[in-house]
Amino acid sequence: MEFDNLKLKCECGGNMKKIRTEWKGLEVRGWRCNRCNEEVINPVDAQKALEIERAKKRNLLTVKLRKVGKSNVVTVPQPIMEAENLREGQKLEWGIEGRKLVLTL
Ligand SMILES: [Zn+2]
Repeated sequence: MEFDNLKLKCECGGNMKKIRTEWKGLEVRGWRCNRCNEEVINPVDAQKALEIERAKKRNLLTVKLRKVGKSNVVTVPQPIMEAENLREGQKLEWGIEGRKLVLTL
């Protein structure tokens, strides 16, 4: 669905203007009313933010350690790629903190 070209009217009768705002710690697209300042989050971005939040809270992004050639490979789930703007070829740094492996950008 494409929401970008949607002209929204607020319940108060004001016009909704496109904005970028922060929601659950992520930058999301949305609209804000020019009259009552009511904010609406783009449902696509809201869905993505919720997925990431859920994953962060409950460690749902389980991945399997695999062997490719002589390397040990761990995949990075798409929501993390998107949330952190990761790209192929980017350098990351492994660290060990107690029982945690920490991947630093
Ligand atoms: Zn309004």
